[in-house]
Amino acid sequence: MVPNLLVLGGTTEATALCREMAQRGMNGTISFAGRVARPVRQPLPQRVGGFGGVTGLSAYLRTENITHVVDATHPFAAQMSQNAVAACAEAGVPLAALTRAPWSQEPDDLWTSVPDIAGAVAALDRPAVRVMLAIGRMHLSLFARHPQHFYLLRLVDAPDAALSFPDHHIEVDRGPFNMENDLALMRAHRISLIVSKNAGGSGAYAKLRAARALNLPVIMIDRPKMPDRYELHEVRAVLDWVSHATTDLGV
Ligand code: NAP
Repeated sequence: MVPNLLVLGGTTEATALCREMAQRGMNGTISFAGRVARPVRQPLPQRVGGFGGVTGLSAYLRTENITHVVDATHPFAAQMSQNAVAACAEAGVPLAALTRAPWSQEPDDLWTSVPDIAGAVAALDRPAVRVMLAIGRMHLSLFARHPQHFYLLRLVDAPDAALSFPDHHIEVDRGPFNMENDLALMRAHRISLIVSKNAGGSGAYAKLRAARALNLPVIMIDRPKMPDRYELHEVRAVLDWVSHATTDLGV
């Protein structure tokens, strides 16, 4: 059977996989949640928007004759990853996750780990500091509980509505980022604390190198727990898996 992949995207790894698939003339579709206004252009057909939970995804897999699913979503996209495991099990389609290793602390890093976003919000219950809040757009409103801080927000799209932070600056930009720019940004805004998700990978690591260079503390949000699944870390490993996978593999 000719493979027909569904790639759950939203990461640089997903884009790299699609590029490699296109070069090899492989069939597949990349799926985006639709969170950003202009997703990175892909060399494969794309679809946008939720599937409608586990039932919707398993129906999609059957209707579209998907032979393999690659979950290349962000390490914090826990709901989509859980749905993928359940839907692939239901539809009998092999699944592999293309993931990145988490970042780990270097000797000069000043990290405090918190288990989740709520932990990061709690950690900001303190006198005013100047925070680089590098967590994307979705959970920003939770931090409005601490209006005493200045917040530097880096977002892929400018927000549609005003944010409820009395003192903030929005930097509209998308990764990959580099250390020189992040150092300059932190200096320009006199940042004294970073809040980061432990996303892993290279594209967003620059802020942690810059924090190390400036001796700044980092509140590091641990990854959500993922379901048991078959995990791969390289695009090439995914392509090898596709060429060997049978319906017994994966979940
Ligand atoms: P999530 O909480 O795990 O997913 C919530 C719902 O969004 C899912 O149940 C699904 O809806 C839909 N969805 C998520 N990813 C999808 C995809 N690739 N294709 C189609 N539907 C998708 O995910 P999230 O944290 O909101 O992240 C959304 C997307 O942004 C992900 O694709 C992720 O790769 C990307 N992203 C997330 C982060 C982050 O920090 N969370 C950072 C960078 C990029 P249905 O149940 O209706 O199918």
